[in-house]
Amino acid sequence: MITINEHYLKLRASYLFSDIAGRIARFQEEYPDREIIRLGIGDVTRPLPKACIAAFHKGVDEMADDATFRGYGPEQGYPFLRQAIAEHDFHARGAAIEPDEIFVSDGAKCDTGNIQELFSTDIKIAIPDPVYPVYLDTNVMAGRTGSHADGRYQGIVYLDSTKENGFAPEPPKEKVDLIYLCFPNNPTGSTITKDQLRRWVEYARNNQALILFDAAYEAFIRDESLPHSIYEIADAKEVAIEFRSFSKTAGFTGTRCAYTVVPQECLAYDKSGNRHSLHAMWNRRHTTKFNGVSYPVQRAAEAVYSPEGKAQVRELIDYYLNNAAIVRKTMAELGYDSVGGDNSPYIWVECRKDSWDFFDMLLRKAGVVCTPGAGFGRCGQGYIRISAFNSPEKVKKAMANIKAALR
Ligand code: PLP
Repeated sequence: MITINEHYLKLRASYLFSDIAGRIARFQEEYPDREIIRLGIGDVTRPLPKACIAAFHKGVDEMADDATFRGYGPEQGYPFLRQAIAEHDFHARGAAIEPDEIFVSDGAKCDTGNIQELFSTDIKIAIPDPVYPVYLDTNVMAGRTGSHADGRYQGIVYLDSTKENGFAPEPPKEKVDLIYLCFPNNPTGSTITKDQLRRWVEYARNNQALILFDAAYEAFIRDESLPHSIYEIADAKEVAIEFRSFSKTAGFTGTRCAYTVVPQECLAYDKSGNRHSLHAMWNRRHTTKFNGVSYPVQRAAEAVYSPEGKAQVRELIDYYLNNAAIVRKTMAELGYDSVGGDNSPYIWVECRKDSWDFFDMLLRKAGVVCTPGAGFGRCGQGYIRISAFNSPEKVKKAMANIKAALR
């Protein structure tokens, strides 16, 4: 008899986006002529930068020629891309990350989801609330949690991200082994300072713990004092793995390219306390289960680091940040507190009522779709997430509608 992994039965169905879609569909049926403006999803809306498109085309042409055709590439990524990443994303910020510590992949979703298989099932995990659901669900699937009750899985140490701690939780009093952090944060849009991040690195070092740092939104950081990488903190290399993505940086959500940094020094332990290289383990996992990102896509990603690519990426991110500023300003004028939007594409608005009720009100009265905070965890109740991924015209119209509806 073929039996199932029963940990899957513990998963709460992900109702968030299907529930939103259902409510929109019912509204459209009732009011077929009303325009709906979507500020709910975390997907980009603008095309790839021109430099990436040119490199992408060239890469495709090379695949059409006997002399330049390429079959399987290195599983970890082509040296040209790993070199560019090391130089521009790390050396330029004083972080000593070398090309062989970079593993190119087809997404930070897969990497943040797959990394947990390197660790034993009886470790103690700390996960933020609210959270990007992948961290939690992949650990549920692997059997690292108990069942779900009152909005939480048993066995997880939840890091409450609240107004009181500026949506950047401090290390817990108790001892945990694996910690997920994401800054700039999805969904709250909050950031972390170097001092705060240093305290996490110290905690990890003192507790033989490991930090999984998701920096998928680092390109949105405009405040020069904020860290883009956890490796800007001294001694982080032994205790941190970092995830990056070209998805939000350069509009690669449909093109697919990302990378994970596993430093050579990064350690974990067996039951007898012997040290093991996570770099060697991730290399083994990656080369066993993954066959590399396509050559033209890696050439397109490399172009992000060319002078034209850098300028175009900056312009792309500024476009979304300008939208975010409009959202923040409008919500402040209407008397709503919010965070995010200045170094992040997400604005986390305190709505002072049930987040689904507020969602329904914005949809019905303003025709605007947001994401109810409660869908990201218990601490998201009373908040909504507004995303800046849309055109300035649509964002301005949405804000005018919200003003009219809420005044
Ligand atoms: N990490 C966070 C925090 C995200 O919000 C997302 C996508 O929304 C991802 C990772 C996934 O990125 P990718 O498109 O590279 O899979």
